[in-house]
Order: sequence, then C-alpha cells, then structure tokens
Amino acid sequence: MNRKMKPESLMMSYGYKPELSEGAVKCPIFQTSTFVFKSAEDGKAFFEVAYGHRAQREDEEQGLIYSRINNPDLEILENRLTLWDEAEDCAVFESGMAAITTVLLEFLSPGDLLLTSAPVYGGSDHFIKKVLPKFGIHYAEFRVGQTHEEIIEIVNATGMADKLAMVYIETPANPTNDLIDIEGSKDIARHFSTGTKEVMLAVDNTYMGPIWQHPLKHGADLVLYSATKYIGGHSDVIAGACLGSKALITRVRGLRTFLGNMASPHTGWLLLRSLETLKARMDIQARNAQHVADFLNHHPLVEKVYYIGNITEKDTALYAIKQKQCLTNGGMISFDVKGGEKEAFKFLNALQLIKLAVSLGSTESLAEHPATMTHVDVDESLRNELSITEKMVRLSIGVEHHDDIIADISQALEATR
Ligand SMILES: *Cc1c(COP(=O)(O)O)cnc(C)c1O
Repeated sequence: MNRKMKPESLMMSYGYKPELSEGAVKCPIFQTSTFVFKSAEDGKAFFEVAYGHRAQREDEEQGLIYSRINNPDLEILENRLTLWDEAEDCAVFESGMAAITTVLLEFLSPGDLLLTSAPVYGGSDHFIKKVLPKFGIHYAEFRVGQTHEEIIEIVNATGMADKLAMVYIETPANPTNDLIDIEGSKDIARHFSTGTKEVMLAVDNTYMGPIWQHPLKHGADLVLYSATKYIGGHSDVIAGACLGSKALITRVRGLRTFLGNMASPHTGWLLLRSLETLKARMDIQARNAQHVADFLNHHPLVEKVYYIGNITEKDTALYAIKQKQCLTNGGMISFDVKGGEKEAFKFLNALQLIKLAVSLGSTESLAEHPATMTHVDVDESLRNELSITEKMVRLSIGVEHHDDIIADISQALEATR
C-alpha cells in the first residue's frame, strides 16, 4: 500500500518477516543465547559493525551474534517503538532504571554537572544523588514554575556552569501532574552549550508516552521510558527503553552491551504483544480519567484534584506548556481527601475494584499514597513545598468501565467520613 500508515496499524507486523519463522503469524520467542554464523567471514563482519570498528554499509544488515548484543525479539520491538516517537533508533532494557542509569553513565563524566527537574522518580533521584557523586558527578535542581532566568541562575550559582553536560527532566511531574516545558528545557541546554560542548536534554516520558507526548519533537535529544508502565501495560513485566538519534543510541547500546542490562527475549516478546493494544488501551485510559476527574472535581469529600485537564487558561504559563506538548490530559490523577493520612488510608483500605499498589499505566486501576509510599524518600520539606502531603492519593486509571471505577471511588470516599 502506497500510504504512510499510523503506528497502531503497524504494531502487528512492522519489522517481522513470517517467512524467516516457518510462516508463524506472530513473532516467536527467540529463546537462544547465541546465533549460528553462515561463515567465518560473516561472523567477522558482524563483530566489526557491532563493536563499532567500522560503519555499517548502506546495503548491510547487522547480523545476529549473541543475545546480549542483539536478538530478533528486541530488534523488532525497538523498530516498532521508534514509530510512536518518530525516533531514528531505540534500545530496550530489562528495566526503566536500567535505561536511565545507562544513559546517565554513558553521557556524564567525572567533574560534570547534571541539571534535573524536581521531583524525579524515586529511583532516578537516588541514583543521581547517592550513586553519581561517587563518580564525581554533581547535580543541581530546578522546580516547576521557575523561569528561564531563574534556572540559568541556579546553574551559574553552582560555579560549574561550564561543566554542565546534561539537562534531565520528567514531565508531568509525579504525582502532582505539574508540567515542565520541554522546549524551554532545551533552551537552557542550548544556553550552556559551546562550540566544543553540546549540552543534551533527556526526558523521562513514562507518564505520558509514547502516545500522549513526543519529547523528541520538542527538542529532546533522548527520551526514556519505564516500559513497565503504559508500554507493558499489564503489570506483568519490568522493562525500559531509550530513543533518539542513531548516533546517540549507538552509544547507549554500546554501554548496554558491556553492562549486560538488555531486555531478555521473553521480555521483548511480552512487550511486542503489549504494543498491539497500546493505542486502544491508552485511548480508553485517557477517556476514563476524564470521567473520574469530573467526578472528583465536584465531590464534597475531595479538597483538591491534580489533573492535567484541570489546567485552564487562567494558569497562563502551565496552560501554554500543556497546549504545546500534551496531546491528551493523560491517565493519572492525584487528589487530596478532606482530612489527613487517616482519611487517605481509610479511602485506600476501602477500595474494592481498584487495587492498592504502586506502579501505573496498567489495564487495572491502581491507587497509592505518595507521601508514605512512592515519595517517602523525598525530603519532608520538599514534599510539603510540592504539595505531596498526607492527604494525597494517586490514581492510575485503567481500562475498566468508568462507571465501575467511579462507583468504587465513591464508596471509598464515603468510608472516609
Ligand atoms: C517506574 C518508573 C521508572 C523506573 O522504571 P522501572 O521499570 O521500575 O525500572 C522511572 N521513571 C518513572 C517516571 C517511573 O514511573
């Protein structure tokens, strides 16, 4: 067919040749550690390319070598993932943390400065503040709502502005759904770039991607995912991904080969299956979230709702960012119950359909208490500054019927009285 198809139409077939697998409609699990070379010359050529000893020729396909380096389930998965973000290349990992830490280790060197938005995912926060300093890598943070000039001042105040190597952001911020300007963050990176040093921008797009937000289009150099969340979408696998230009992903894949933190063939296969329904699932999740937010917005036992759909033209700066980079209002909602931890816990303990668990983006709706669970490691003063208080509950909206989700939330709210 001579037309450019949408990614959701390509998720069942792209990059897979049935004739290479006995005609199987579905890509099998290539549960093998190593691959047979047709000749010694082939083996030599495959290694030359895989280890970067020479560039791949135009007409040359990278041959299969060994499953730490490449495997059909991973390669087909990587090719399919590039379609959503319109990225040149992708590398998949055994976890979101593996993708994030590999990127940080590949692009930061001792003496470098890393600028991050705050808060970031707890695991990323720990790695940046507790592990990277052991390698002489420093960090500085900025918060939602700070202006271009304020952020530049934060970097200058470190006295290490000339060593800034990367800006790393997460938007929407978890769990408050505050937005960080991707294009604006790229402007910061540009401000500190010089003729000999390009400051890169990496975006953790787990909360919105890969359907609802495409950071590469707004200037990001790398986009990162915990594929455990929406991409996997069934709470049955831990995985991660990193996307960007061919040149950058070649470097990321290079370090992945030596850290050995690639995804397994089985993980790759599970994610291939998940990708077939990604668009359908996320469409329903976004629609359900809108219904749930409408319900919470008018509920007398709810004090405040944190939802992208609630950002209106009156919030001038945030609204402009939302219009620019968010394709929907997402599937995540946080809210403050009237009361405190006691009422929040009563709510969580009374839920029947919605499961009390961390993680997000899956088919089933989940609820958790950020202040004592996902964000317990965040400094209490910073938590308060960010409104992550005892009364906050975070919801990840699934694909159940929205009336059933709302009925469950309704009865659990009554239990807080
Ligand atoms: C879950 C998550 C991660 C970590 O991913 P894992 O797959 O658990 O390693 C990173 N960033 C965000 C925003 C997440 O939600």
